[in-house]
Amino acid sequence: MKKYDVVVVGSGPVGSTFARYIANEGYKVVILERKREIGVPLQCAGLLGKRIKDLNILPDEFILNNIYGAYLHSPSNNILKVGRKDPEAYVIDRVGYDKFLAEQAVNSGAEILLNHKVDALNIKTGEVRVSSGDKCFQAEIIVGADGYASIVSEKFNPKSKSVIAAQYLLDMGGDVFDTDHVHLYANSQLSPGFLWIIPVSKSMARIGLFAKMDYNGLNQVLKEFINSDKSYKNASILKKYHGFIPIYDSKKKLVKDRTILLGDAASQVKPTTGGGLMIGFECAKMAADTVSKSLQRQDHTILIDYENGYKKRFKSELRVQLEVQKIFESLTDEDLDQMFLKLKKGNAEELISKYGDMDTQSTLITEMIKNGLLFSIVPRLLTRRIGSLWK
Ligand SMILES: Cc1cc2nc3c(=O)[nH]c(=O)nc-3n(C[C@H](O)[C@H](O)[C@H](O)COP(=O)(O)OP(=O)(O)OC[C@H]3O[C@@H](n4cnc5c(N)ncnc54)[C@H](O)[C@@H]3O)c2cc1C
Repeated sequence: MKKYDVVVVGSGPVGSTFARYIANEGYKVVILERKREIGVPLQCAGLLGKRIKDLNILPDEFILNNIYGAYLHSPSNNILKVGRKDPEAYVIDRVGYDKFLAEQAVNSGAEILLNHKVDALNIKTGEVRVSSGDKCFQAEIIVGADGYASIVSEKFNPKSKSVIAAQYLLDMGGDVFDTDHVHLYANSQLSPGFLWIIPVSKSMARIGLFAKMDYNGLNQVLKEFINSDKSYKNASILKKYHGFIPIYDSKKKLVKDRTILLGDAASQVKPTTGGGLMIGFECAKMAADTVSKSLQRQDHTILIDYENGYKKRFKSELRVQLEVQKIFESLTDEDLDQMFLKLKKGNAEELISKYGDMDTQSTLITEMIKNGLLFSIVPRLLTRRIGSLWK
């Protein structure tokens, strides 16, 4: 049985980033990855807020497009345009980026074993078993970075819940997209999910959605959307993708015995958008700092500092986002249309452009409460519920 300081289950972007940090500290690390090829198939829209550059290495070669703002569409197509002078987000080549992050982990000294699906583990003894070849690994610490259906999480949490997301890569057959802006469409059928158009170039875009529906339902919505708009008449679907987004679970335990969870496996996703990379990368650093301390002092009880630190850093932002999500879920198409009209009238485009942030909604909501705009767009009861989050 091979012995390691850390066995990481899953070489997704978050697991690879964690492994890089911990290998850089000089610890013996192996990543066990069930896929034959890292990052394939693509299961991401690849939109990352500009803060990514503070949270992880992102070489320019993986940035396909810069995004300056968004068009937000109501069900009857009332539109809010928000944005800034400088790029707010990047559209990335996610497959290339996943491979790059794995390479960085290897360059830092981590070992990656592909085609190694973990099918059994003991979170008390640190024994990890892989189905192919009946191999066994001994870990001082196990890190579950194995995504939405984490086998590691199931050792000390109930089965995780998730929603499906579907996406097409569209070629429009000509230059039609404004590459500076994404389009986001809200309606009650999809809420709290939404439909997105993310331009990769003037002629190509990722168009996708997530909602509480099955895969056929999502495809139906996407096809109807494409067929309903004349500008898509020459469009061809180059690729179809789908994937699962974990539902954020505030009760999930992230640490037990000598084991921790990270990334989608820990449901570290923004409830409003389903985005998991930014929060996952930040947590990878927090986890690596704690795991390093635990290994240094040979004390597993220290691992709980990671869970406590994560909650301190993210709990209130995620709570706000959960409330926003619940509100959206309760609104009809009419409510949404009214809300967009009131927002437009209340000069919300300027407010959102100034205080809006892809990853943090609490700052914008605080500003909307301060100037009374929130009070005017959602029923009084809901406003009080959001307001009380700050008490
Ligand atoms: C359609 C779609 C669009 C999205 N768009 C965005 C976006 O624009 N921006 C954003 O920030 N986020 C987005 N996300 C979410 C984002 O993709 C995830 O949050 C991110 O991939 C999480 O990274 P991770 O490393 O935690 O998990 P994953 O990327 O899921 O990686 C987990 C790895 O573990 C491996 N694994 C699983 N089980 C085992 C096992 N038993 N043994 C060994 N290996 C195992 C898997 O093969 C995988 O490689 C999107 C998700 C979907 C589905």
